[in-house]
Amino acid sequence: RQTMPAADLSDSVEQTLNDVFGYQSFRTFQKEIVHSLIQGKDAFVLMPTGGGKSICFQIPALHRRGTAIVVSPLISLMKDQVDALRVNGVKAACCNSSLGAGELREVMAQLQADQLDLVYVAPERLLSADFLQLLQRIEISLFAVDEAHCVSQWGHDFRPEYVGLGRLRDYFPAVPMVALTATAEKQTRLDIINHLHLENAHQVIASFDRPNIRYTVIDKSKPYQQLGVFLQHHQHESGIIYCLSRKRVDEVAKKLRQDGFKAAAYHAGLSANERKQVQDDFIRDDLPIVVATVAFGMGIDKPNVRFVVHYDLPKNLESYYQETGRAGRDGLPAEALLLFGYGDIAISRGLIEKGGNPEQKRIEIHKLNAMVGFAESGTCRRRALLGYFGETLEDDCGNCDICLNPPQRYDASEDARKALSCVYRVGQRFGIGHVIEVLRGAKTQRIFDLHHEQLSTYGIGREQSQDHWSHLLRQLIHYGYLEQDIGNYSVLKLTEAARPLLRGEAELTITKPRVKPGRKKRPERK
Ligand code: ADP
Ligand code: ZN
Repeated sequence: RQTMPAADLSDSVEQTLNDVFGYQSFRTFQKEIVHSLIQGKDAFVLMPTGGGKSICFQIPALHRRGTAIVVSPLISLMKDQVDALRVNGVKAACCNSSLGAGELREVMAQLQADQLDLVYVAPERLLSADFLQLLQRIEISLFAVDEAHCVSQWGHDFRPEYVGLGRLRDYFPAVPMVALTATAEKQTRLDIINHLHLENAHQVIASFDRPNIRYTVIDKSKPYQQLGVFLQHHQHESGIIYCLSRKRVDEVAKKLRQDGFKAAAYHAGLSANERKQVQDDFIRDDLPIVVATVAFGMGIDKPNVRFVVHYDLPKNLESYYQETGRAGRDGLPAEALLLFGYGDIAISRGLIEKGGNPEQKRIEIHKLNAMVGFAESGTCRRRALLGYFGETLEDDCGNCDICLNPPQRYDASEDARKALSCVYRVGQRFGIGHVIEVLRGAKTQRIFDLHHEQLSTYGIGREQSQDHWSHLLRQLIHYGYLEQDIGNYSVLKLTEAARPLLRGEAELTITKPRVKPGRKKRPERK
């Protein structure tokens, strides 16, 4: 082969950084990890996307004898990295199911002839008998396990093949291993260390804080209108609106276009061409708004995304963090808005209940609960979010809805009594909508047919809005005073806990609803 060697073992790592990658200097953690690996010590790197993890194994790969074996779960990511390395003159190849038989043979032959600095390989191939046999015959500089959270059932992206990677430690005890991930939840981290036997690894755990992102959670009442108010404050800005289903994506995108926004839908139901078009337009700033399922965003490195809206509840905090993290990569102020609806909890729970093994379900329910806890918490969002990832903030952040606009609590005992008695008076046979109509004294045919205008609770809440009662009823469900019979038209029923409240023996304080998306982040320039 005619290519110049990308680095000489005797070069300094700084020289390689300059010559091969074109960077001036190492980030501090990169230097530490690079040196550990070159010395043959294991390493573990936990760092948000964009932190610069790749260099950590790519440079040692050029400074140790033999070939580095890089495990990566996604063919597209492998290809991007290999292409980028080749442009820089590094001898890299990938080995995955996208290769034809001939190409595969060629890569294997190069590997055998010690002609490659790095080989990217999917875990199932790496652990195949052929491949392992080949590896026994060559010199391996290091193992890099990228997206290492895939090893954990707690990770959002569990891949059973990853678990087998622990065997590499038995087969190749002398080869250093580095695991890298941007998923920080504590149990995941422990799983990675256990499964890959990285107990003695040099660990770098970076802060996951994204201080320029302002987190806001509002109660979902009329989501499309709430979105509209938010977008008015973000005209001409680029943003992503995540919805849970394809149907919802199409619906919202269509409405936005009808209302004059430049918005397109993106989900797995579209053709590859359509998706590519949307993605390209978005990246080139020809299309400001993409309404998408979570399929959108993987591998998109667009610096000036100014907002991410979650129209529906994300399934866990890992997803929420990842998705909101697509905003403000340029470091300028960005917004993350979550529309939090109690109805969404039931939907997500339903989806979880449908599939997976019992253990998986248990984990997912646990994570969903953490997500709900975050949305409901009256404490600094950033503290709650980072806390979930095991990181402690010294102070409240000053840049989330809770910090900027602390929740107001009020004594809801009287209102709660009205609502609970109304549930009782309608015979515990109706849902939220009907109970509110009775409370507010609605004059509908249905009410008259049922003679509910004759109930003592009819109209006792007419001075309060529909939103007020809806928020209160949902809080009563949340705090366990009411149960919603999901299997039976979501009928409301009193629980034991409701008794003392109804009898006036207990009080209830709750927070006022938060339905406004918050004000513009900077005052209008004159
Ligand atoms: P990660 O894998 O953590 O998401 P990457 O390795 O892809 O991050 O790097 C993210 C970005 O940072 C890339 O655009 C890369 O070019 C840049 N980068 C990495 N290390 C350095 C460095 N030492 N100096 C300047 N830029 C760097
Ligand atoms: Zn805060």
